[in-house]
Amino acid sequence: MLDFFTIFSKGGLVLWCFQGVRGPAATAPVNALIRSVLLQERGGNNSFTHEALTLKYKLDNQFELVFVVGFQKILTLTYVDKLIDDVHKEFRDKYRNEFQQKGALGLLNGTFDFKDDFMRLLRDAEESSKVRAPTVMKTFEQSLKSQKTVKCMIETRGEKPKEKVKNKKNKGSKKDGTEAVAVPNKASAADKQLSAAGDKEELTKDEILQKNREEFFRRHMKAGEKSRSPKPDAQKEKGKKPRVWDLGNSNAKVLDYSNSATNGSTEACPVEEFDPDMALGDKNREPGRLYDLEYESDDEAEEEKVVQNPSKPSVKKGGLGGMFGMLKGLVGSKSLTRDDMDPVLEKMKDHLIAKNVAAEIAVQLCESVAKKLEGKVMGTFTTVTSTVKQALQEALVQILQPQRRVDVLRDVMDAQRHRRPYVVTFCGVNGVGKSTNLAKISFWLIENGFSVLIAACDTFRAGAVEQLRTHTRRLNALHPPESHGGRTMVQLYEKGYGKDAAGIAMEAISYARNQGFDVVLVDTAGRMQDNAPLMTALAKLIAVNAPDLVLFVGEALVGNEAVDQLVKFNKALADHSMAQTPRLIDGIVLTKFDTIDDKVGAAISMTYITSKPIVFVGTGQTYCDLRSLNAKAVVAALMKA
Ligand code: GDP
Repeated sequence: MLDFFTIFSKGGLVLWCFQGVRGPAATAPVNALIRSVLLQERGGNNSFTHEALTLKYKLDNQFELVFVVGFQKILTLTYVDKLIDDVHKEFRDKYRNEFQQKGALGLLNGTFDFKDDFMRLLRDAEESSKVRAPTVMKTFEQSLKSQKTVKCMIETRGEKPKEKVKNKKNKGSKKDGTEAVAVPNKASAADKQLSAAGDKEELTKDEILQKNREEFFRRHMKAGEKSRSPKPDAQKEKGKKPRVWDLGNSNAKVLDYSNSATNGSTEACPVEEFDPDMALGDKNREPGRLYDLEYESDDEAEEEKVVQNPSKPSVKKGGLGGMFGMLKGLVGSKSLTRDDMDPVLEKMKDHLIAKNVAAEIAVQLCESVAKKLEGKVMGTFTTVTSTVKQALQEALVQILQPQRRVDVLRDVMDAQRHRRPYVVTFCGVNGVGKSTNLAKISFWLIENGFSVLIAACDTFRAGAVEQLRTHTRRLNALHPPESHGGRTMVQLYEKGYGKDAAGIAMEAISYARNQGFDVVLVDTAGRMQDNAPLMTALAKLIAVNAPDLVLFVGEALVGNEAVDQLVKFNKALADHSMAQTPRLIDGIVLTKFDTIDDKVGAAISMTYITSKPIVFVGTGQTYCDLRSLNAKAVVAALMKA
């Protein structure tokens, strides 16, 4: 039933392997496990699926061993967990001396004759799963129903079975809370009072019930009215009036620039005053350079202090040291147990959640760290806290390091060599900063000497085209053709509103090809992740135009909502795509990072769940507020107390 069972060292030496009769070779699935789980710190749960196989694994952190079993995922093998535990125990007990005395050399030269032991353990595990007989259904005679007589099920009018009345009371009390508890009591008191009065009593009882109901509703209505804020009468009468802004113009026709037939023309709308210094932000930066997110770590010095001077409890407050101060017990050269780590992990989990990491992910991360450390022998001068913290930090940095690096400048140059424009599509919900960050990216590309065509494919939101036109004008003012050998560095391609976005993107790309633009940045309409028709339209735009890069724009401000958006956008692109291998999101633009202080958890959650790299980080509203992700900066902010 098993496809394979393999035991290998964390260094990569296969010590022993069992190969099932029909099973595929263990190499590919085990490599996938190492790549996607063990190296990516996703070891929270002991299971991993690769194509048709389920892989379960266990780590031995003392001897640095990995035990992996593989079987067909359609099978429910209840004995696998037991088997892996038993094999682990038996193997390490049998070869303990080799591991302890000879170390890595022992592994290289050792012969691990484990087949008979394994077969015995496998047989035992299989037998033990059979011993637990499946639960048998009760016969009718054994059930409670059979004990009910027909008589007790017949209801006579006016005489309610005792139990039923009781149940009804309970139900009422659950639904209506304190109010409802009072009602049946009153009713039962009335029952007693009126028990001897025949037909008249029935009527009175009904009346009482009716009264109670009316009273109940009256009270609830009052409560509802109170909770709503009172509206001033005057406002009610007047109704809502459109606000007229000081600098605005009430004439809608004057404001409508959508009929402009020009592409990228700046004449169509009035040239407003703008301060180039304000738009640029930091004046001291190096033009064209995409700076890393900055960070300052405040707890490194403190941590060193703890490690060097283990016997003295740290008195400094603040930092993770302060937070876990009470847990800084010395373990010395003892191997770490789950009990040692649990209090620290619990604190770390809460800390991560407080920093906006999704609760589920915080749990998985801590679980993964625990699995990685359990049984590991600690150095003499290290504390549980520092060991766990370091492992968690490493895991977090690992998560934020992209598996696939997106190097936009290199890719644009590559496209240039092939005489075609490099196409980037931006997608996301409304208001997350798609247009603003698209403009920042344009600015960065222009500073690197690439010309940009902005395709206005948000043909839905009023003002979207005008917003891009304003950016285009400003960017052109900052980088006029005169300073680029007469070449227009940025232009807008727009067709107004209500048109098919996919078609406009396609026209823009061919326009860019003809005019020799280096990059096309496609702005799309904001849409909610659950809106199926709009997601289908986005999938179509992407399928038809095959952009080089699909960027999801999400704001760090909304925390885990951004994770939900990203997951659903990605899924919707897969579901609504007409292509056999659907085009999914390639990377993330994480915006409004300047607004979240150190609550940077969304970055971790987004990359942990989807493994998508964060390509750009938006850190403000000027053209220079664009950064590349610095995993260490994010982790430092995350670990800050
Ligand atoms: P869109 O609807 O997704 O195109 O969003 P917009 O580009 O219109 O941006 C919505 C608002 O977010 C605007 O007021 C932007 O100035 C603001 N915004 C965009 N990116 C950032 C950022 O990185 N930091 C801050 N603080 N605000 C931003």
